[in-house]
Amino acid sequence: MNICVIGTGYVGLITGTCFADMGNKVWCVDIDAQKIKKLKQGKIPIYEPGLQELVTKNMQEGRLEFTSAIKDGIKDALFCFIAVGTPTGIDGVADISAIQAVANKISINMDKYLIIVNKSTVPVGTASQIRNIIKEQLKARKREDLEFDIVSNPEFLKEGAAIEDFMHPDRIVIGTDNIRTAELMKQLYEPFVRNQNPILIMDITSAELTKYAANAMLATRISFMNEMARLCDQVGGDIAHVRLGIGTDRRIGMPFLYAGAGYGGSCFPKDVKAIINTGSENGVSMDIIAAVEKVNENQKYYLVEMLLKRFGEDLTGKKFGVWGLAFKPQTDDMREAPSIVIIRELLFRGATVTAYDPEAIEQAKKVFADCEQHIQYVDDSKKAIQNVDALIVITEWRQFRQPDLNELKCHMKSPIIFDGRNQYKPNIMKENGFEYYCIGRNCFV
Ligand code: NAD
Repeated sequence: MNICVIGTGYVGLITGTCFADMGNKVWCVDIDAQKIKKLKQGKIPIYEPGLQELVTKNMQEGRLEFTSAIKDGIKDALFCFIAVGTPTGIDGVADISAIQAVANKISINMDKYLIIVNKSTVPVGTASQIRNIIKEQLKARKREDLEFDIVSNPEFLKEGAAIEDFMHPDRIVIGTDNIRTAELMKQLYEPFVRNQNPILIMDITSAELTKYAANAMLATRISFMNEMARLCDQVGGDIAHVRLGIGTDRRIGMPFLYAGAGYGGSCFPKDVKAIINTGSENGVSMDIIAAVEKVNENQKYYLVEMLLKRFGEDLTGKKFGVWGLAFKPQTDDMREAPSIVIIRELLFRGATVTAYDPEAIEQAKKVFADCEQHIQYVDDSKKAIQNVDALIVITEWRQFRQPDLNELKCHMKSPIIFDGRNQYKPNIMKENGFEYYCIGRNCFV
């Protein structure tokens, strides 16, 4: 099948590449000319495991092309996917201006039937906005004869495991009001599910809501565990035991029950805000989700609170090593990363930071451009601990899991670790002479 994907970010590039890998002919379009120039040379602008190889292979085999011109992208396409950003706008409302701009461009350039599939996460009603924009443009062009369909097809991939998630999705959600379009969408996705996992056909509104409901539910589990962890720290329990104790109940399940330094990333924070807003616009008070957001905002400061208790409010002259900057492992994405809040607070209080992350340093340099003189970036985890007053673990990259504790002790000024991802066993840290602080494991000295 011929496919156009508009937006070559984390979602668009994965979508286009995976469709191409199934034998489809795919044109990927982006407004960012630099990005397209690099992609045409086979250079990937983001870090995502396995993506480079898959893009190269599909380009070489002639199934994957890149362009800045929507006209070229949709020329032969039956499906046109929209995968542009929908960041938080004013007052927490999702900013769908990029979607509107794309809808406009499609309607100016289309000259045959097209199935327009929205993959971006958007508030309820966006599909009908897209429909109206296109109808109006076609009317202005006097091309009301051109037919099109709108589909809502939210994406559930996780950065860091995006190819695996796209190739083997738990489910595909398709929101459409047209039976024929539903059948075509099913055909397109059949190779990814191969009669195992469901393709769920539903109305457009339910599909748009499903994505927000999924992210809000996952964020709720995280904030719930973070709140429990704080209680553990006060009453003397261990959140690791509590997690096993509840997760083994099949009604609850184990995934997404980790306490930590708070959730971040390009999706949970903005989607939680957006659904709260959808509620208030429609007279529904989203009390649970509002609390989830509040707990998360506070949680990003939890490690800093521990650190201030230990070192005092004024951190002038103190130097901290940081392991992990990305909002989670296996990505270079720094959007809304807890590391931003933590590092800024330390710098504000006079400290300096030596930071290491396997992939996110280039992104971090942009985020911390205004305070670069207080942060030193290093290309090795060992260099980040030289002569530091404490090590702070913020992202749970695999390579941080089993450090050589003797070596750590030798290089640090004092053997103190603040672990925002509960990577180490408190008893082992104690036996090895570390002062160890973590989340909800009752580890304060
Ligand atoms: P991104 O910021 O990585 O990429 C968006 C791309 O769209 C950019 O390359 C940008 O240049 C391009 N773009 C913007 N305006 C354009 C226009 N008018 N024409 C052509 N291209 C344009 O975003 P992302 O992380 O891929 O997210 C895209 C959407 O998917 C968002 O709605 C997001 O919420 C949703 N989503 C993201 C993830 C994720 O893990 N990142 C997962 C599921 C869903």
